[in-house]
Amino acid sequence: MRLIEFYQGRGLKIVKGEGQYVWDEQGNRYLDLHAGHGVAFLGHRNKIVLEYLQKQMSEIMTLTTAFDTPIREELAKELDNVKPDNLNNAFLLNSGSEAVELALKVSRKVTGRKKFVAFVNSFHGRTSGSLSVTWTRKYREPFEPLLGPIDFLRFNNIDDLKKIDESTAAVIVEPVQGEGGVIPANDEFMKGLREITTEKGIILIIDEVQSGFGRTGKIWAHQHFGIDPDIMTAGKAIGGGFPVSATFMPDWIAEKLGEGDHGTTYGGNPLAAAAVVGSIKALKADNVPEQAKVKGEIFIKMLQETLSDFKSIREVRGKGLMIGVDLKLNPGLAIKVLQDNRVLSLKAGVTTIRFLSPYTITHEDMEVAVDATRKGVLATERKTTSS
Ligand SMILES: *Cc1c(COP(=O)(O)O)cnc(C)c1O
Repeated sequence: MRLIEFYQGRGLKIVKGEGQYVWDEQGNRYLDLHAGHGVAFLGHRNKIVLEYLQKQMSEIMTLTTAFDTPIREELAKELDNVKPDNLNNAFLLNSGSEAVELALKVSRKVTGRKKFVAFVNSFHGRTSGSLSVTWTRKYREPFEPLLGPIDFLRFNNIDDLKKIDESTAAVIVEPVQGEGGVIPANDEFMKGLREITTEKGIILIIDEVQSGFGRTGKIWAHQHFGIDPDIMTAGKAIGGGFPVSATFMPDWIAEKLGEGDHGTTYGGNPLAAAAVVGSIKALKADNVPEQAKVKGEIFIKMLQETLSDFKSIREVRGKGLMIGVDLKLNPGLAIKVLQDNRVLSLKAGVTTIRFLSPYTITHEDMEVAVDATRKGVLATERKTTSS
């Protein structure tokens, strides 16, 4: 059997992960700043997450949510410790795309409107609905017509917000665009967006699948702006490595939903619930958002100090431990050189090296990563001048 692969292979076989590191077959250790697209933010095999998963595995692994079970009661209680103040309701799903899918469906049901607004460089997933609001044409166009109408406006552009009209069901936005290039939203833009959506009765969906769960220095990245979403999607890091996502909503929206509006075979299963409970406990026990904030500031500063003089560097930017090194060139070779120097990273946008570090990264790890990045950038510049 050939296993279908949609990502370009890295030519590396990983056999183990622990904390911020993974190991290959030969026993070589890598600093994992790819972290499975940021999923392993709490570290590979986080102790508390493992404990909850192992305990749940010894009891029951699968159960429809039509039956009650203790771990779901614990989940409901534990979510109170991380939920945004105004979002009292959550529905668990299996992937970020599915969480976005539900957010879009709910927005149409609640408003009776059809149109969605999304932003240039957005990424919201690969299923037909979530793909409709994803910017990258290459991902989207072979599958059109998708959901519509969709308007794509410029991210961080206040003037464009005036184009949002009353036929819009929802606006969907990432507080820090991830896949699109690690681009933090600015304060004026997010506040403006909240204002105009409130004024026109439009649902504001904040997609925190990548930026959420402490990575940017707050539990949710939108909390940097002091605004409340109408719907929030979460995924990636919230299960500590177990595939799980969630769509959060306030009472006034949840009250309008009923039997048959949505459903899922796996969503909210006991193992996923246990993974989320363990992850929230881990996040709280180690003051994870604060660590991400402090370490992120140091890491960004170290990268800036080492790299800013290179002529191929456009910018080092980010929020907390969501960091991008934007080149004026294709970052492919630099990412390869990083890997050769035992640091795993990933691409974002067209020109950005992305670091989605576990919060357990140390100062020494950062030094290794900065030096490997310097080598990657040097190699990229050499190749360009020689060709
Ligand atoms: C990764 C991501 C998604 C999609 O999540 P999947 O689990 O891959 O379906 C959606 N939104 C954002 C912001 C993401 O980063």
